[in-house]
Amino acid sequence: MFNVNKIREQFPILKETVYGKPLVYLDNAATSQKPQAVLDSIIESYTHYNANIHRGVHHLSQVATERHEEARKRVARFINAPDSDCIVFTRGTTEAINMVASSYGRKIFDKDAEIIVSQTEHHSNIVPWQLAGEASGLKLRVIPLNEDGSFDMEAYEKLFNDKTRMVAVSGMGNVMGIANDVCELTRIAHKHGVRILIDGAQMIAHKKVDVQKIDCDFFAFSAHKVYGPNGMGVLYGKRDVLEEMSPYQGGGEMIQNVSFEKTTYNVLPYKFEAGTPDYIGSVALSKALDFVEGIGFEDIHAHELHLTQMLMDGLATIPGMRFYGTAPTKSGVVSFNVDGIHNLDIGMLLDRMGIAVRTGHHCAEPLMDYFGVKGTLRASLAVYNTEAEVEFFLEAMNRVIKMF
Ligand code: PMP
Repeated sequence: MFNVNKIREQFPILKETVYGKPLVYLDNAATSQKPQAVLDSIIESYTHYNANIHRGVHHLSQVATERHEEARKRVARFINAPDSDCIVFTRGTTEAINMVASSYGRKIFDKDAEIIVSQTEHHSNIVPWQLAGEASGLKLRVIPLNEDGSFDMEAYEKLFNDKTRMVAVSGMGNVMGIANDVCELTRIAHKHGVRILIDGAQMIAHKKVDVQKIDCDFFAFSAHKVYGPNGMGVLYGKRDVLEEMSPYQGGGEMIQNVSFEKTTYNVLPYKFEAGTPDYIGSVALSKALDFVEGIGFEDIHAHELHLTQMLMDGLATIPGMRFYGTAPTKSGVVSFNVDGIHNLDIGMLLDRMGIAVRTGHHCAEPLMDYFGVKGTLRASLAVYNTEAEVEFFLEAMNRVIKMF
């Protein structure tokens, strides 16, 4: 039985107060809080299992290596990857996308090549492609949106031509919280003979991900958005494309043999993991994934959808309310503005009441330009948020609006 109070008990930070008021944390799309199991894991690893991994002859190194590789298997199971060596640990979604842009993109972006992205992308799924395509004159083609913020799928299909080399889109946007049809996006990309990267930074905490069912070529996510530690992330890639990609960074771990004349590279996934890996973060991530699966996506989704609807219904009664994104697959994130009041002013007043929301462009300036605004207020939910918190937020919003 889903019990939000039992879930909350696992998050010590939710007992904090801000300016003497209970913290109401509605900034989960930026980063999620961490359950005790994740915090404990970090302490436990440093207390009992800290040694640099791989090739260590001594016991501690071997245990640390096993734990790290078990964590890789845990990640593979979570997203149903066919093999754990298709799981590359990165520092986050951003690094994972940069890796693909740099190692795969640069290779396939010939002169005047095109890549398809969407109007909703986070800067980290725009700028790496621009960097990788700078020399070849890469053009970004943009999937336009329907009125409700969903992708215009007919327009998407029309963007393909003989210069299209790749598609890179988010599974769920960080401004509107709309889940995109990743299976269909992938099917169409493959029909046109190009690979697709799914930015799963938001999707990972809210929807069951099955990379084999989606059939995507790459899937990227950050641990910190799914109740795990910061500084840890994942790139899943299909084996054939990972094999054909050259290493992203050079250093220890990623080599087989080094001489001044010639260096040979390690096998997957180590070829992409230069330097000492975050073997503390990987294990902590595996505990976060245990936490999520312990609840189950069906209950997570039902709870978050219910709270999202409460938020939307309550906010809709405020005069001058403007929502961004209302598609039926929206859940967990509500972006809005109130006519005549700056989002930053509202955000600062909410903060004084203990409520954490985000204001500004949310690293999605092209989407803000499309809406014709500089920023929005964004309330974003996690599995530990409650009806009482949403009610408190709505009351606070009404009080704030009256101040203007
Ligand atoms: N893509 C999306 C959709 C995001 O929401 C974020 C984080 N806000 C990122 C990419 C980047 O994630 P990170 O900063 O953890 O690398």
